Amino acid sequence: MKKLEQLYEGKAKKVFKTDDPNLYIVDYKDDATAFNGLKKGTIEGKGIINNRVSNHLMKMLEKNGIPTHLVEEISDRETVVKKVTIIPLEVIVRNIAAGSLAKRLGLEEGTKLKHTVLEYCYKSDELGDPLVNDYHIYALGIATKEELDLIASYSFQINQLMSDYLKDLNIELIDYKIEFGKTPDGTIILADEISPDTCRFWDSVTGEKLDKDRFRRDLGNVEGAYHEIMKRLLGE
Ligand code: ADP
Ligand code: UDP
Repeated sequence: MKKLEQLYEGKAKKVFKTDDPNLYIVDYKDDATAFNGLKKGTIEGKGIINNRVSNHLMKMLEKNGIPTHLVEEISDRETVVKKVTIIPLEVIVRNIAAGSLAKRLGLEEGTKLKHTVLEYCYKSDELGDPLVNDYHIYALGIATKEELDLIASYSFQINQLMSDYLKDLNIELIDYKIEFGKTPDGTIILADEISPDTCRFWDSVTGEKLDKDRFRRDLGNVEGAYHEIMKRLLGE
């Protein structure tokens, strides 16, 4: 497999073409941003941790019947993935109120939700990723009803699998963001990443935040939290 030209540089990853037209290589960076790019910084070693943690979680999901883009980890920061056309939605799943939901609905952070919440944001940096509902998604032609039903079903299955898996490691899955993409034959698979950048992880015993909120809110020990997540998941 040959790494060819860079196609895209995002806020957290670079995407490269390969000599296989169906595969890309993603390269995870240490750059961190928050508040739609307004806050910028570096989290030392984050790229390595997110690459490994995301692959570890995707492998677990794949084993349990969720199709993902993961092909092969080829270095500390690089992974071969199936090329997809990203469906421009940030799919957010919430078990406990935090972040923008707590603010929007006036809930205290940490309030247990009586039902899992599924939200969609339209991926658009210019618009600041606005919240949309299923009708907006059909109206804009972002996904059909059949496609969105499958995305929702995968998202709830992923929530159950991840919550159960993390619970045994004393990690509570508060909320997370995932993205889906379409392979050239139209199959919908889980893409992008699942990491402390894209999930809220709280220690089940102490309630300590072990995710990007430490960076967003200047809570200190950001690197330590990312390391702790890698240690609990991968044992190192
Ligand atoms: P952003 O674009 O929000 O700054 P990243 O820095 O993570 O985010 O950039 C990675 C980009 O690659 C994202 O736009 C993501 O949607 C996209 N992506 C993730 N997985 C795949 C894949 N398998 N195929 C094509 N694009 C992907
Ligand atoms: N999230 C993400 N990328 C985004 C927005 C949110 O990965 O662009 C994740 C975030 O880490 C959290 C969940 O989605 O785990 C819900 O985020 P929320 O809507 O509360 O937004 P925030 O508080 O980050 O503004």
